[in-house]
Amino acid sequence: VNILAIESSCDETSASIISNGKILNNIVATQSVHEKYGGVVPELASRAHQQHLIPVVHEAIESSGIAKNELSAIAFTKGPGLMGSLMVGVSFAKSFAFALGIPLIDINHMEAHILAHFIDEPKPQFPFICLTVSGGHTQLVLVKDYLEMEVVGETMDDAVGEAFDKTAKLLGLPYPGGPLIDKYAKEGNPKAFQFPISDMPGLTFSFSGIKTAVLYFLRDNLKENSQFVEQNLADICASVQYTLIKTLMQKLKKAAKQYKIKDIAIAGGVSANSGLRNELELMSKELGWNVFIPKFEYCTDNAAMIAMAAHFKYQRSQFCDLDVSPEARLKI
Ligand code: ATP
Ligand code: FE
Ligand code: MG
Repeated sequence: VNILAIESSCDETSASIISNGKILNNIVATQSVHEKYGGVVPELASRAHQQHLIPVVHEAIESSGIAKNELSAIAFTKGPGLMGSLMVGVSFAKSFAFALGIPLIDINHMEAHILAHFIDEPKPQFPFICLTVSGGHTQLVLVKDYLEMEVVGETMDDAVGEAFDKTAKLLGLPYPGGPLIDKYAKEGNPKAFQFPISDMPGLTFSFSGIKTAVLYFLRDNLKENSQFVEQNLADICASVQYTLIKTLMQKLKKAAKQYKIKDIAIAGGVSANSGLRNELELMSKELGWNVFIPKFEYCTDNAAMIAMAAHFKYQRSQFCDLDVSPEARLKI
């Protein structure tokens, strides 16, 4: 069984081939047009997908050594994501499946982020909890089986990646600022400045408060000293990161306790964060957690995770019709 998978939900155009459950490649074209705007511009994203998709698919097929007529199915991201971006991937996948006369498999992007854990060893055991932390989402998911998941907690406003990127923007750092905050934080004191740690009821997150807190904090300090940011960049970054990670860890610990689970997985771009990784390592020692973090390539948006999810749906003959449409707000 050979499946071609396509990912085009946001600003990465990606294609991957999976053969009998084994990922053969993962071709990703990242869009640089958005950098100068300080965020993803939807209209530009869909145009870039139009340009990148065929070359990316071509490279995936060529480098896999599998011929087009040996493909068993085409998989694509149905949502969630930007409508214009999803549309490009969905339309291409439909046409290709129609032309080849093979089945089509629709994939939920957030489920795929979690199923990225099944690409390589070691793999978590069901049931496990996955903390999905990305530019658009912050979710605690109880994963009961490959295709059986329940969102038990999520953010009521901003995603944690968004909080990283927005505070980075306030500090004058280029987009996406998350990795830069992480970098400067390594040289700073996490207790230098205090920002509020939101405490929502249950397993609900909120990240909009910290952005506002940082905004006022900077405004007040810049009034006194116009060099405040330059002089304290590492300490500000370390303190912001400390607050964001603390907020994530509080809820993650609560969920693990509530569901009595020790297999803890993380997914999404923010799982690259060194502060989060350190905290998880600490918890594996302190609470006996088995922590699972995919290879970074499979944490950010990629088609290999779509291919992995497609593998499980193919095994269960879960195909979709050719009149399928993308869903920008598709839920798990
Ligand atoms: P979604 O999957 O919800 O649609 P997305 O695809 O934009 O969102 P990803 O590509 O998975 O999200 O992740 C990108 C996010 O990860 C950005 O917000 C980026 O700043 C953040 N990020 C990446 N590396 C780090 C890091 N080391 N520390 C903090 N944040 C990081
Ligand atoms: Fe994503
Ligand atoms: Mg992205």
